[in-house]
Amino acid sequence: MASTANETSFFSDVCKNFDSAAKFTSHPEGLLAQIKACNSVYRFQFPIRRGNGFEVIDAWRVEHSHHMSPTKGGIRYSDMVNEDEVMALAALMTYKCAIVNVPFGGAKGGICINPKNYTVAELETITRRYTTELIKKNFIGPGIDVPAPDYGSGEREMSWIADTYMTMNPGSLDALGCVTGKPIALHGIRGRKEATGRGVAYAVRECVNHADDMKKLGLTAGLADKKIIVQGLGNVGYHTAKFITEFGGTIVGICEFEGAIYNANGLNVDEVFAHRKNTGSLLGFPGAKDFKNSKEGLEQACDILIPAALENQITAENIRNIKAKIIAEGANGPCTPEAEEIFTGMGGIIIPDMYCNAGGVTVSYFEWLKNLSHVAFGRMENRYAENSNANLINTLESLTGKTIPTEHRLMIVKGASELELVNSGLEDTMIHSYREIRQTLIDKPEVKTLRTAAFVNSIDKIAVSYMNLGVWP
Ligand code: GLU
Repeated sequence: MASTANETSFFSDVCKNFDSAAKFTSHPEGLLAQIKACNSVYRFQFPIRRGNGFEVIDAWRVEHSHHMSPTKGGIRYSDMVNEDEVMALAALMTYKCAIVNVPFGGAKGGICINPKNYTVAELETITRRYTTELIKKNFIGPGIDVPAPDYGSGEREMSWIADTYMTMNPGSLDALGCVTGKPIALHGIRGRKEATGRGVAYAVRECVNHADDMKKLGLTAGLADKKIIVQGLGNVGYHTAKFITEFGGTIVGICEFEGAIYNANGLNVDEVFAHRKNTGSLLGFPGAKDFKNSKEGLEQACDILIPAALENQITAENIRNIKAKIIAEGANGPCTPEAEEIFTGMGGIIIPDMYCNAGGVTVSYFEWLKNLSHVAFGRMENRYAENSNANLINTLESLTGKTIPTEHRLMIVKGASELELVNSGLEDTMIHSYREIRQTLIDKPEVKTLRTAAFVNSIDKIAVSYMNLGVWP
């Protein structure tokens, strides 16, 4: 099947990856074309008042697939945003949700501004007007399309969206489910902010735990002896690095737009973060080697490279210089299809974005469920579980005449908090989905990469939904 966009675009790269996998499925051509197509592309412009005049803001919301409702995906605030990028990111959301069994179609939004150049008041005006435009066209709602944070946006923007939607839909009980990634005070969920990075760390840990696969790469199983370079110290990169360290890996390199640092003995992520905050740059971190050219940082010795910044970072130009055996895509689209082909030829493996960074939307799904059920996870049963566990321990103690040490007692009686339930749901999702993808690689030896296997699984799941919608005979 031919791609539907021009050959050099991000959307056409996503389509290329789709096409490579579609040939290993047995679905009719027309159905594959429908799965691949962007169902609704809404481009709009609106004015804001700035200084003594006005400025026109360009914005998009793309709903890639209506095979499930609502559609779901973040809103990117960046002056690099364009229609092709939003379409590509919306398509990736569809495949991502299917891979991790989150029952949503994919969507994405974009506002073409550099948020650093606007005051908070201006950003609020832009966000509220953007939301109003979506409401006017029925492009937002708990059962329609549910935005979330993405590059350049966060909890603050999500709370403006929620407030605008609630104001325009008075009395709507489920209104808070119109957007995720909200602050806790506005019924966001604990663990959402760090979810994408935590998910990437689970994905990497699961990948390296398969001893057979590691042997083929000449690596041992487990994170303990792994050296890792992370590109990006934003929300995703920072949390990925933090949790990978917690799971036993060693961060040896960090790259940002101003340059990169490397220390083969390991970097303390929080200290690097603080250094960057204080000095305005990664460079000059004590004990680390500096690279003024950030891309050089990606090419240093390591076992795992995690691009967690933006798309198009690893291309046919630089892939041959990459020393890592595993690339884990924390960002969306950091490796081009050409780079992946070369890297696979070099014997490396890529943990694909549509699975690797799906932790964010997974926890967004939990937040949406929380909003629809109007109660926090664990609120009804936490204390009950604690009391019955305590009764059990007390009974055991009185029957045996022995006393359980306090630290053990506390561990056993404790009920699960919302954060623990969220993290456990996320961990289970990431492990289960990785095993599903890996199983496809085993079952279909003609499928060569984790990305193609992930696409095959995704396409199969979406195809079943279309069949069940009754659209196809
Ligand atoms: N923007 C994130 C992503 O690309 C999160 C989307 C969501 O939570 O809906 O996956």
